[in-house]
Amino acid sequence: MIKLSEIEPPEIKLPEIKLVDQYKRRLDYLRISVTDRCNMKCIYCMTHEKTSKLPCREILRYEEIIRIARIFTRLGVSKIRITGGEPLVRKGICEFLSGIRKLEGLSDLSITTNGVFLKDKIKQIKSAGIRRLNISLDTLDKDKFKNISGIDAFSEVWESIMTALDMGFDPIKINVVALKGINDDELPDFARLSLSYPFQIRFIEYMPIGTSRMTSRQLLAPEIKNRISSIGRLDPVENISVDGPAKRFRFENAKGEVGFIRPISEHFCSSCNRLRLTASGNLKTCLLSETETDLKGPLRKGCSESELAEIILKAVYKKPFEHPLIANSEGIISGEMSAIGG
Ligand code: SAM
Ligand code: SF4
Repeated sequence: MIKLSEIEPPEIKLPEIKLVDQYKRRLDYLRISVTDRCNMKCIYCMTHEKTSKLPCREILRYEEIIRIARIFTRLGVSKIRITGGEPLVRKGICEFLSGIRKLEGLSDLSITTNGVFLKDKIKQIKSAGIRRLNISLDTLDKDKFKNISGIDAFSEVWESIMTALDMGFDPIKINVVALKGINDDELPDFARLSLSYPFQIRFIEYMPIGTSRMTSRQLLAPEIKNRISSIGRLDPVENISVDGPAKRFRFENAKGEVGFIRPISEHFCSSCNRLRLTASGNLKTCLLSETETDLKGPLRKGCSESELAEIILKAVYKKPFEHPLIANSEGIISGEMSAIGG
């Protein structure tokens, strides 16, 4: 087996052109799903209808991901987020993170995790050079946690969050998918966490992807904001380049912040800088579009890196201007969030 640390950058000549689409959006952020597998089955993400997993040979090997990611960084990607499925269930993930960290031109590397295995791997993750973490947590109630995720692991996730805090990870973003009748009673409790902890609590609007059918439970950002407004005045916080589309706010004297990710109530399409590499090696230029471009096939057939770069540039140029989702629309996007990476 090839050691990730031994993959030398090949001598290649890539086009001088950077990743820009036909609407002149600069694409400098790549989300990589390293697996479609997960130890959870969150009701809004991986439904019981999904039982089959991609066969192992269909999943990109780590060295393949690093080769593809290197092309992206050479074409101007400077931010990478590792996601899944659950990235921490994949064997060898920490060595892989160290490999990715070394890519020239990369200024930001982060992971999104459900947090269950984070505590066990956190030292290695820190040694791999990760400082920014997104941890998903939809409830502060142990029993409800089991109902939402299918496993009894609230304590493990909370312990991971506290360990990350002690170890100085910054920022620690807590992702909360807000759902009517499921966790909307806890929205103020989540928001209050930002008073005493330096967390960025990010309320996410549910997107109807794959077989999940939670549209009737969708809660939009204005409503979420309204529900937490009794806590105090929310002052806007200026976004910085690594923030992505979250609209950020802070309560007076709070240690942390709250934010809203609003793919439905306020499309951020016109300023979208994101690309996605799925676990099976497809490039998705829009999370909410069916169009995917196969990179694994050409890579495995021996395409040169400059040929792959051409394929990438062509696909990126055609990135859709916007996605079609509006409030209350049903699941019109096929594919599972767990394989695409969220
Ligand atoms: N397993 C990891 C986790 O849960 O953090 C990483 C993958 S998960 C697909 C990435 C993010 O997507 C999580 O924060 C999750 O809550 C969010 N997500 C999954 N399905 C979603 C949906 N249908 N609508 C909105 N967000 C979703
Ligand atoms: Fe797994 Fe994350 Fe999807 Fe939950 S949201 S099922 S933890 S991939």
